[in-house]
Amino acid sequence: MSTSLLVSNIKNLILTEDSPRNSPLRGADLAHLPSIKNAFLLVENQRIKDFGPMKNCPERADRTIDATGRIVLPAWVDSHTHLVFAKTREDEWVNRIKGMSYEEIANRGGGILNSAKRLQETPEDMLFEQALGRLEEIKNYGTGAIEIKSGYGLTVESELKMLRVIRRLKESNEMGIKATFLGAHSVPMEYRNGNRQGYIDLIINEMLPQIAGEGLADYIDVFCEKVAFSVSETEQIMEAGARYDLKPKIHVNQFYCLGGIAAAVKHGAISVDHLEVVDDSDVEALKNGETIATLLPSAPFFLNDHIPPARKLIDAGLPVALATDFNPGTSPSGRMPFVLSLACIQMKMLPEEAINASTLNGAFALEWADEYGSIARGKAANFILTKEVPSVAYLPYAFGSDWVKRVFIKGKES
Ligand SMILES: [Zn+2]
Repeated sequence: MSTSLLVSNIKNLILTEDSPRNSPLRGADLAHLPSIKNAFLLVENQRIKDFGPMKNCPERADRTIDATGRIVLPAWVDSHTHLVFAKTREDEWVNRIKGMSYEEIANRGGGILNSAKRLQETPEDMLFEQALGRLEEIKNYGTGAIEIKSGYGLTVESELKMLRVIRRLKESNEMGIKATFLGAHSVPMEYRNGNRQGYIDLIINEMLPQIAGEGLADYIDVFCEKVAFSVSETEQIMEAGARYDLKPKIHVNQFYCLGGIAAAVKHGAISVDHLEVVDDSDVEALKNGETIATLLPSAPFFLNDHIPPARKLIDAGLPVALATDFNPGTSPSGRMPFVLSLACIQMKMLPEEAINASTLNGAFALEWADEYGSIARGKAANFILTKEVPSVAYLPYAFGSDWVKRVFIKGKES
């Protein structure tokens, strides 16, 4: 049965597209946020049927919402999360408050290995229930599509368990979900003394064939960093992923510039994520490819670390996306509106740039721009209706304020 929903008298309908783009917004284009004042939005069969100025508003629909004084914008596309995990890590956080560094914690078997131990011990059903609760929470912040990574398993059995949990989330939820295999998140302790390659072989020869066989992953990821995997190890794993048609989305340049960005671009990565530190050769590498720079400002905010140089990347004409990096160690928050605020306050992005980067460019970072990320006819009806607000700039400005009033996923209020 077809049901229609009409949102009328919208003060400002944001990020409208008459003909959807086929490539992400780059450089100066990121500041351009098409919108219609005093607008309507019509939803039919879970999709955006029509939109435009009120003078063209249809006369009736099965349901109508009066949005006087309020803004409508596309739901967030959070293209980088670790939302499936077994336990929060506030105890390590307290150790950091007392002066211990992330690297010290990692080298002592804390950090990712701590999460892996907990996850290995936790039954699949419990992981699923916990992750489902987090999904419901972030829906209320306005997130309508998300990427979720494995990487707290670090054994064949537990990586498969994580990815099966993500598959169950996909099947049980209206939200758009893509899965990324991140077996190369950390080298388990038992492989650290002279047998790193043993773990990489396990990823390539045991994990990948089973994951691909069950169709459990859309992408492959590697944590390319001094505390994790080298550039050449990262390349080895990207090459193995390519044999199963898994394109890379790579954790890189969180703490050091090692040349991982150039390697990821060379291997056709959809995105390179983090980029707290970026040198000129990294920018050059990105200029020569299609890879999206995905910035995760809540991680350096939480770690009191380098702020990603968003301006340097945007001013070089590059495509930038924003995501939460929701994870128990370095970003225990899936709140996209806060990411927008950090992007503007700390990284000097304009409100328009931050909104584009959190919606349309996020969708491109998941190769899902035909379905999500803008107000366009035929796309999934995933959108946010704000409270009464004075302007678009008010949204990232009023950090911490709950201006998200109602969230619609596939036309249904969540
Ligand atoms: Zn991450």
